[in-house]
Amino acid sequence: MKVLVTGGAGYIGSHVVRQLGRAGHDIVVFDNLSTGYAWAVTAGELVVGDLADASAIESLFSAHTFDAVLHFAANIVVPESVANPLKYYSNNTRNTLNLLKAIEQHGVPYMVFSSTAAVYGMPEQTVLTEDLPLAPINPYGASKMMSERMIMDLAAASPLNYVILRYFNVAGANPEGLLGQATPEATHLIKVACECVTGAREGMSIFGTDYDTRDGTCIRDYIHVEDLAKAHVMALDYMANGGQSQVLNCGYGRGFTVREVIDVVKARSGEDFPVQETGRRAGDPAALMADNQRITETLGWKPDYDDLDTIVQTALDWEKKWQRLKKENNKNQ
Ligand code: UDP
Repeated sequence: MKVLVTGGAGYIGSHVVRQLGRAGHDIVVFDNLSTGYAWAVTAGELVVGDLADASAIESLFSAHTFDAVLHFAANIVVPESVANPLKYYSNNTRNTLNLLKAIEQHGVPYMVFSSTAAVYGMPEQTVLTEDLPLAPINPYGASKMMSERMIMDLAAASPLNYVILRYFNVAGANPEGLLGQATPEATHLIKVACECVTGAREGMSIFGTDYDTRDGTCIRDYIHVEDLAKAHVMALDYMANGGQSQVLNCGYGRGFTVREVIDVVKARSGEDFPVQETGRRAGDPAALMADNQRITETLGWKPDYDDLDTIVQTALDWEKKWQRLKKENNKNQ
Protein backbone atom coordinates (compact mmCIF):
# COMPACT_ATOMS: atom_id res chain seq x y z
CA MET A 1 0.00 0.00 0.00
CA LYS A 2 1.01 3.58 -0.54
CA VAL A 3 0.81 5.15 2.90
CA LEU A 4 1.11 8.66 4.29
CA VAL A 5 2.49 8.81 7.82
CA THR A 6 2.07 12.19 9.50
CA GLY A 7 4.40 12.60 12.45
CA GLY A 8 6.51 9.72 11.16
CA ALA A 9 9.70 11.34 12.48
CA GLY A 10 8.45 11.21 16.07
CA TYR A 11 8.79 8.54 18.75
CA ILE A 12 5.87 6.24 17.92
CA GLY A 13 5.60 7.22 14.25
CA SER A 14 9.25 6.35 13.58
CA HIS A 15 8.83 2.84 15.00
CA VAL A 16 5.72 2.35 12.86
CA VAL A 17 7.50 3.62 9.73
CA ARG A 18 10.26 1.09 10.25
CA GLN A 19 7.78 -1.78 10.60
CA LEU A 20 5.74 -0.55 7.60
CA GLY A 21 8.94 -0.52 5.54
CA ARG A 22 9.72 -4.08 6.56
CA ALA A 23 6.17 -5.10 5.62
CA GLY A 24 6.80 -3.76 2.10
CA HIS A 25 4.65 -0.64 2.17
CA ASP A 26 5.51 2.44 0.12
CA ILE A 27 5.85 5.27 2.64
CA VAL A 28 5.72 9.06 2.60
CA VAL A 29 6.36 10.74 5.96
CA PHE A 30 5.01 14.25 6.49
CA ASP A 31 6.47 15.90 9.58
CA ASN A 32 7.30 19.46 10.64
CA LEU A 33 10.25 18.16 12.73
CA SER A 34 9.07 20.20 15.74
CA THR A 35 9.65 17.26 18.07
CA GLY A 36 10.79 14.63 15.55
CA TYR A 37 14.06 14.02 13.72
CA ALA A 38 14.92 13.34 10.08
CA TRP A 39 17.33 10.54 11.15
CA ALA A 40 14.39 8.70 12.71
CA VAL A 41 12.75 8.18 9.31
CA THR A 42 14.36 4.87 8.34
CA ALA A 43 12.06 3.97 5.43
CA GLY A 44 10.33 5.83 2.62
CA GLU A 45 10.53 9.50 1.80
CA LEU A 46 10.42 12.44 4.24
CA VAL A 47 8.49 15.57 3.30
CA VAL A 48 9.05 18.37 5.80
CA GLY A 49 5.84 20.32 6.20
CA ASP A 50 3.12 21.37 8.58
CA LEU A 51 -0.50 20.22 8.73
CA ALA A 52 -1.51 23.81 9.48
CA ASP A 53 -0.50 24.58 5.88
CA ALA A 54 -3.44 23.61 3.65
CA SER A 55 -1.48 24.25 0.44
CA ALA A 56 1.34 21.94 1.59
CA ILE A 57 -1.24 19.21 2.28
CA GLU A 58 -2.82 19.78 -1.12
CA SER A 59 0.48 19.45 -2.97
CA LEU A 60 1.26 16.29 -0.99
CA PHE A 61 -2.06 14.65 -1.91
CA SER A 62 -1.77 15.81 -5.52
CA ALA A 63 1.71 14.33 -5.86
CA HIS A 64 0.75 10.91 -4.44
CA THR A 65 -2.26 8.61 -4.48
CA PHE A 66 -2.48 7.30 -0.95
CA ASP A 67 -4.28 4.10 0.02
CA ALA A 68 -4.00 4.95 3.70
CA VAL A 69 -3.13 7.73 6.09
CA LEU A 70 -1.62 7.02 9.51
CA HIS A 71 -1.98 10.18 11.55
CA PHE A 72 0.51 10.56 14.44
CA ALA A 73 1.42 14.24 14.21
CA ALA A 74 0.29 15.87 17.46
CA ASN A 75 1.38 17.55 20.67
CA ILE A 76 1.08 15.23 23.66
CA VAL A 77 2.13 16.99 26.87
CA VAL A 78 -0.85 17.15 29.22
CA PRO A 79 0.29 20.03 31.50
CA GLU A 80 1.24 22.07 28.44
CA SER A 81 -2.24 21.49 27.04
CA VAL A 82 -3.74 22.91 30.24
CA ALA A 83 -1.51 26.00 30.08
CA ASN A 84 -1.85 26.48 26.33
CA PRO A 85 -5.10 24.84 25.22
CA LEU A 86 -5.37 26.56 21.85
CA LYS A 87 -2.03 25.09 20.79
CA TYR A 88 -3.66 21.67 21.24
CA TYR A 89 -6.92 22.54 19.53
CA SER A 90 -4.86 24.00 16.66
CA ASN A 91 -2.15 21.39 16.23
CA ASN A 92 -4.24 18.36 17.13
CA THR A 93 -7.88 19.10 16.33
CA ARG A 94 -7.76 21.70 13.56
CA ASN A 95 -4.82 20.03 11.82
CA THR A 96 -6.71 16.73 11.86
CA LEU A 97 -9.59 18.59 10.20
CA ASN A 98 -7.18 19.91 7.56
CA LEU A 99 -5.97 16.38 6.92
CA LEU A 100 -9.50 14.97 6.78
CA LYS A 101 -10.47 17.52 4.13
CA ALA A 102 -7.70 16.18 1.89
CA ILE A 103 -8.64 12.57 2.73
CA GLU A 104 -12.22 13.29 1.72
CA GLN A 105 -11.33 15.21 -1.40
CA HIS A 106 -8.88 12.60 -2.65
CA GLY A 107 -10.99 9.62 -1.59
CA VAL A 108 -8.37 7.94 0.59
CA PRO A 109 -10.00 4.70 1.74
CA TYR A 110 -8.20 3.93 5.03
CA MET A 111 -7.07 5.86 8.08
CA VAL A 112 -5.33 4.83 11.31
CA PHE A 113 -5.50 7.42 14.06
CA SER A 114 -3.36 7.77 17.20
CA SER A 115 -5.71 8.37 20.07
CA THR A 116 -5.20 8.01 23.78
CA ALA A 117 -6.63 6.63 27.01
CA ALA A 118 -6.82 10.30 28.04
CA VAL A 119 -10.18 10.43 26.22
CA TYR A 120 -11.66 8.42 29.12
CA GLY A 121 -10.72 11.08 31.70
CA MET A 122 -11.06 9.92 35.32
CA PRO A 123 -13.19 6.77 35.02
CA GLU A 124 -14.39 4.85 38.08
CA GLN A 125 -13.32 1.57 36.53
CA THR A 126 -9.64 0.63 36.49
CA VAL A 127 -9.88 -1.70 33.47
CA LEU A 128 -11.32 0.26 30.57
CA THR A 129 -13.41 -0.95 27.65
CA GLU A 130 -13.85 1.10 24.49
CA ASP A 131 -17.56 1.61 25.21
CA LEU A 132 -17.04 3.76 28.30
CA PRO A 133 -18.31 7.33 28.00
CA LEU A 134 -15.64 9.76 26.87
CA ALA A 135 -14.96 12.44 29.47
CA PRO A 136 -11.49 13.91 29.00
CA ILE A 137 -10.33 16.19 31.80
CA ASN A 138 -7.67 18.15 29.94
CA PRO A 139 -7.37 19.87 26.54
CA TYR A 140 -5.00 17.17 25.25
CA GLY A 141 -7.62 14.46 25.80
CA ALA A 142 -10.36 16.73 24.49
CA SER A 143 -8.37 17.57 21.35
CA LYS A 144 -8.04 13.84 20.61
CA MET A 145 -11.69 13.09 21.41
CA MET A 146 -12.78 15.82 19.00
CA SER A 147 -10.47 14.41 16.33
CA GLU A 148 -11.94 10.93 16.85
CA ARG A 149 -15.42 12.33 16.41
CA MET A 150 -14.55 14.11 13.17
CA ILE A 151 -13.06 10.89 11.77
CA MET A 152 -16.16 8.89 12.74
CA ASP A 153 -18.51 11.47 11.25
CA LEU A 154 -16.59 11.64 7.99
CA ALA A 155 -16.48 7.84 7.81
CA ALA A 156 -20.27 7.74 8.26
CA ALA A 157 -20.69 10.15 5.35
CA SER A 158 -18.05 8.75 2.96
CA PRO A 159 -16.31 5.51 1.97
CA LEU A 160 -13.54 6.14 4.54
CA ASN A 161 -12.73 3.27 6.92
CA TYR A 162 -10.74 3.87 10.07
CA VAL A 163 -9.05 2.20 12.98
CA ILE A 164 -8.70 4.49 15.99
CA LEU A 165 -6.11 3.17 18.44
CA ARG A 166 -6.37 4.43 22.01
CA TYR A 167 -2.88 4.13 23.41
CA PHE A 168 -2.20 3.45 27.07
CA ASN A 169 1.32 4.21 28.42
CA VAL A 170 3.75 3.74 25.56
CA ALA A 171 7.38 3.14 26.49
CA GLY A 172 10.53 1.28 25.48
CA ALA A 173 12.51 1.46 22.28
CA ASN A 174 13.55 -0.51 19.25
CA PRO A 175 15.47 -3.53 20.66
CA GLU A 176 18.28 -3.11 18.10
CA GLY A 177 18.90 0.39 19.43
CA LEU A 178 18.02 2.08 16.12
CA LEU A 179 15.18 4.25 17.41
CA GLY A 180 13.74 5.47 20.67
CA GLN A 181 12.19 8.39 22.44
CA ALA A 182 14.23 11.50 21.73
CA THR A 183 11.49 14.02 22.42
CA PRO A 184 12.91 17.04 24.24
CA GLU A 185 11.49 17.75 27.71
CA ALA A 186 9.56 14.50 27.88
CA THR A 187 7.42 14.06 30.98
CA HIS A 188 6.62 10.36 30.83
CA LEU A 189 7.61 8.22 33.78
CA ILE A 190 9.94 5.66 32.16
CA LYS A 191 11.67 8.31 30.05
CA VAL A 192 12.17 10.57 33.08
CA ALA A 193 13.59 7.70 35.17
CA CYS A 194 15.98 6.72 32.35
CA GLU A 195 17.18 10.32 32.12
CA CYS A 196 18.05 10.10 35.84
CA VAL A 197 20.24 7.07 35.08
CA THR A 198 22.25 8.86 32.38
CA GLY A 199 22.57 12.03 34.46
CA ALA A 200 20.55 14.06 31.96
CA ARG A 201 18.35 14.74 34.97
CA GLU A 202 19.45 14.89 38.59
CA GLY A 203 16.46 13.30 40.21
CA MET A 204 12.74 12.84 39.92
CA SER A 205 9.48 13.03 41.84
CA ILE A 206 6.77 10.51 42.57
CA PHE A 207 3.53 12.40 42.16
CA GLY A 208 1.36 11.10 44.99
CA THR A 209 1.84 8.21 47.40
CA ASP A 210 -1.65 8.17 48.94
CA TYR A 211 -3.62 6.51 46.13
CA ASP A 212 -5.76 3.47 46.84
CA THR A 213 -3.35 1.06 45.16
CA ARG A 214 -1.01 -1.70 46.39
CA ASP A 215 1.80 0.74 47.29
CA GLY A 216 -0.03 4.09 47.23
CA THR A 217 1.29 5.19 43.81
CA CYS A 218 -0.58 5.21 40.50
CA ILE A 219 -0.90 2.12 38.34
CA ARG A 220 -0.53 2.37 34.56
CA ASP A 221 -0.56 -0.09 31.67
CA TYR A 222 2.89 0.27 30.07
CA ILE A 223 3.04 -1.05 26.51
CA HIS A 224 6.20 -1.53 24.44
CA VAL A 225 6.38 0.76 21.41
CA GLU A 226 7.16 -2.15 19.05
CA ASP A 227 3.95 -3.94 20.06
CA LEU A 228 2.04 -0.72 19.53
CA ALA A 229 3.70 -0.26 16.13
CA LYS A 230 2.71 -3.80 15.17
CA ALA A 231 -0.93 -2.97 15.95
CA HIS A 232 -0.81 -0.20 13.31
CA VAL A 233 0.53 -2.51 10.61
CA MET A 234 -2.12 -5.11 11.52
CA ALA A 235 -4.83 -2.42 11.46
CA LEU A 236 -3.93 -1.61 7.85
CA ASP A 237 -4.05 -5.29 6.85
CA TYR A 238 -7.37 -5.64 8.66
CA MET A 239 -8.96 -2.80 6.68
CA ALA A 240 -7.42 -3.94 3.38
CA ASN A 241 -9.09 -7.33 4.01
CA GLY A 242 -12.49 -5.68 4.36
CA GLY A 243 -12.55 -5.07 8.13
CA GLN A 244 -15.05 -2.54 9.43
CA SER A 245 -14.10 0.67 11.20
CA GLN A 246 -13.06 0.11 14.82
CA VAL A 247 -12.00 1.87 17.98
CA LEU A 248 -9.44 -0.29 19.79
CA ASN A 249 -7.67 0.07 23.10
CA CYS A 250 -3.97 -0.61 22.90
CA GLY A 251 -2.51 -1.90 26.14
CA TYR A 252 -1.56 -5.16 27.80
CA GLY A 253 -4.38 -5.19 30.35
CA ARG A 254 -2.11 -5.20 33.40
CA GLY A 255 -0.38 -2.46 35.30
CA PHE A 256 2.60 -1.43 37.41
CA THR A 257 2.86 1.21 40.10
CA VAL A 258 5.17 4.21 39.84
CA ARG A 259 7.37 2.71 42.57
CA GLU A 260 7.56 -0.64 40.77
CA VAL A 261 8.66 1.10 37.58
CA ILE A 262 11.35 3.14 39.35
CA ASP A 263 12.61 0.01 41.15
CA VAL A 264 12.98 -1.82 37.84
CA VAL A 265 14.85 1.14 36.29
CA LYS A 266 17.24 1.17 39.26
CA ALA A 267 17.69 -2.61 39.24
CA ARG A 268 18.29 -2.90 35.48
CA SER A 269 20.70 0.03 35.39
CA GLY A 270 22.46 -0.63 38.69
CA GLU A 271 22.22 3.11 39.35
CA ASP A 272 20.61 4.81 42.29
CA PHE A 273 19.22 8.32 41.87
CA PRO A 274 17.28 10.71 44.09
CA VAL A 275 13.52 10.19 44.13
CA GLN A 276 11.39 12.67 46.00
CA GLU A 277 7.83 11.94 47.09
CA THR A 278 5.63 14.91 46.30
CA GLY A 279 1.90 15.61 46.14
CA ARG A 280 -0.50 14.30 43.52
CA ARG A 281 -0.33 15.66 39.98
CA ALA A 282 -3.67 17.14 38.93
CA GLY A 283 -5.81 14.83 36.84
CA ASP A 284 -4.06 11.52 37.56
CA PRO A 285 -6.51 8.64 38.08
CA ALA A 286 -5.29 5.99 40.58
CA ALA A 287 -5.22 3.11 38.11
CA LEU A 288 -5.74 2.79 34.36
CA MET A 289 -5.48 -0.43 32.39
CA ALA A 290 -6.77 -1.46 28.99
CA ASP A 291 -9.37 -4.11 28.42
CA ASN A 292 -7.68 -5.39 25.26
CA GLN A 293 -10.12 -8.10 24.28
CA ARG A 294 -11.37 -6.15 21.28
CA ILE A 295 -7.96 -5.56 19.70
CA THR A 296 -6.85 -9.15 20.27
CA GLU A 297 -10.04 -10.50 18.72
CA THR A 298 -10.38 -7.98 15.89
CA LEU A 299 -6.78 -7.77 14.69
CA GLY A 300 -5.41 -11.02 16.11
CA TRP A 301 -2.83 -8.80 17.86
CA LYS A 302 -0.57 -10.56 20.36
CA PRO A 303 2.17 -8.73 22.24
CA ASP A 304 5.82 -9.78 21.89
CA TYR A 305 7.26 -7.55 24.62
CA ASP A 306 4.80 -7.76 27.51
CA ASP A 307 7.51 -7.63 30.16
CA LEU A 308 8.44 -4.57 32.24
CA ASP A 309 12.12 -5.57 32.40
CA THR A 310 12.30 -5.64 28.60
CA ILE A 311 10.44 -2.34 28.25
CA VAL A 312 12.76 -0.67 30.73
CA GLN A 313 15.95 -2.26 29.37
CA THR A 314 15.24 -1.15 25.79
CA ALA A 315 14.38 2.35 27.03
CA LEU A 316 17.61 2.47 29.07
CA ASP A 317 19.78 1.23 26.19
CA TRP A 318 18.27 3.85 23.92
CA GLU A 319 18.58 6.65 26.47
CA LYS A 320 22.30 5.94 26.93
CA LYS A 321 22.85 5.93 23.19
CA TRP A 322 20.80 9.09 22.70
CA GLN A 323 22.67 11.06 25.36
CA ARG A 324 25.98 9.93 23.77
CA LEU A 325 24.82 11.01 20.31
CA LYS A 326 23.71 14.38 21.62
CA LYS A 327 27.10 14.97 23.28
CA GLU A 328 29.01 13.99 20.13
CA ASN A 329 26.78 16.24 18.09
CA ASN A 330 27.40 19.20 20.41
CA LYS A 331 31.16 18.60 20.19
CA ASN A 332 31.07 18.57 16.39
CA GLN A 333 29.22 21.86 16.17
N1 UDP B 1 4.85 10.12 37.28
C1 UDP B 1 5.65 10.41 38.37
N2 UDP B 1 6.79 11.15 38.17
C2 UDP B 1 7.18 11.59 36.95
C3 UDP B 1 6.37 11.28 35.83
C4 UDP B 1 5.20 10.54 36.04
O1 UDP B 1 5.32 10.03 39.50
O2 UDP B 1 8.20 12.27 36.84
C5 UDP B 1 3.61 9.31 37.47
C6 UDP B 1 2.34 10.05 37.05
O3 UDP B 1 1.83 10.81 38.11
C7 UDP B 1 1.44 8.87 36.68
C8 UDP B 1 2.41 7.83 36.12
O4 UDP B 1 3.70 8.21 36.61
O5 UDP B 1 0.84 8.33 37.84
C9 UDP B 1 2.45 7.83 34.60
O6 UDP B 1 2.59 9.17 34.16
P1 UDP B 1 2.99 9.54 32.66
O7 UDP B 1 3.14 11.02 32.60
O8 UDP B 1 4.14 8.71 32.25
O9 UDP B 1 1.76 9.05 31.80
P2 UDP B 1 0.17 9.33 31.92
O10 UDP B 1 -0.40 8.12 32.59
O11 UDP B 1 -0.02 10.59 32.67
O12 UDP B 1 -0.23 9.42 30.49
